[in-house]
Amino acid sequence: MTSAFEIAAPARIVFGPGTVGQVPEIARALGARPLLVTGASPARASGLVAALERAGVSAPLPPLSVAGEPTVALVRDAAALARGAGCDLVIAFGGGSALDAGKAIAALLGNGGDPLDYLEVIGRGRSLARPGVPFVAVPTSAGTGSEVTKNAVLASPEHQMKASLRSPLMLARAAVVDPDLLVGLPAAVIASSGLDALSQLIEPFVCLRANPFTDALARAGIRRSARSLRRVYEAAARGGGRGDGDGGAHGRELGDAREDLAMANLFGGLCLANAGLGAVHGFAAPIGGTWPAPHGAACAALLPHAMRVNQRAIEARAPDHPARARFHELAALLTGRGDATAAEGIAWLDDLVAALGIPGLGRYGVTAADIPALVQRARVASSMKANPVPLTDDELTEIAARAL
Ligand SMILES: [Zn+2]
Repeated sequence: MTSAFEIAAPARIVFGPGTVGQVPEIARALGARPLLVTGASPARASGLVAALERAGVSAPLPPLSVAGEPTVALVRDAAALARGAGCDLVIAFGGGSALDAGKAIAALLGNGGDPLDYLEVIGRGRSLARPGVPFVAVPTSAGTGSEVTKNAVLASPEHQMKASLRSPLMLARAAVVDPDLLVGLPAAVIASSGLDALSQLIEPFVCLRANPFTDALARAGIRRSARSLRRVYEAAARGGGRGDGDGGAHGRELGDAREDLAMANLFGGLCLANAGLGAVHGFAAPIGGTWPAPHGAACAALLPHAMRVNQRAIEARAPDHPARARFHELAALLTGRGDATAAEGIAWLDDLVAALGIPGLGRYGVTAADIPALVQRARVASSMKANPVPLTDDELTEIAARAL
């Protein structure tokens, strides 16, 4: 925790219900021949395609649909196609996978070369020399915060790993966050993406690189997520995800709750990009590279256990640690009670994860026999460096075992 900091964020962040309507105007100022990148269902973007065309911004290629987490090959091929078609702008409309793919393609269009020239760990790790073509990010889930971060995570099946393309030059020129786009998301997606967003607020709040700027965002985001995540999930689970068609009081409240989630996600992205993370994301990286566990679901399964082990380690070994008070404050933010203890805050997380139907990591094939190797990989993951205290192998083993 430090009072010296530097903040990097997109040049423009536009937030609010209906703001997706501003995308054509924003795009027109940045380029004339966009590549549109969408999630698994490109039909969701048909309204945006039509609005772009009405604004005189027509895409030379059909939308690129990114069904799963993007691979090195997908980004390589898409960049070649887009270059051939003269694309001078990338607009990504979708969840974290579509945004990461779009961000990486935009970077390659501005720099040339192959993804492996720039990828960390599995590639040559060269720095980007130039900005990419302008990138506009329009998230349609409330999970990864990718619209405001400077990296794109790509999977390489041949290396059995995920690695990042990372550069301050990859920040979006504009992030357009419209909470209305969350209408109709399946309950399971709300659960896993919402808990990823909450992890991305909590880990930066207690981490070693927390700073006053990210603290303010973390406090505001945790409060909003705590009061609204369960509510939006339950409405979606009842099939009421679209329940504000009549504009009634119930619908308006649900709209407010979705706005809370979209804002919590945005703030979490800014926190992780400008502070750091911790053990939850330290485990999520090797898990995501090895098993078919969606990032958000893995983070959700790990979150309460990582917090409990961290809090206990601080009490036992570092009672003067500044994060100690943070765990008390976290409990108050989560429960809404100023006198809540750190343990009560973590128990509140246990209850939330259970109420949202998050499966253990075993669901994705992780077994007790995998834990020793997993611990060794998590220990050296980049996110682990900002964890509030160094954890022992026994402590890391406990987190993984409880998350099974
Ligand atoms: Zn995450």
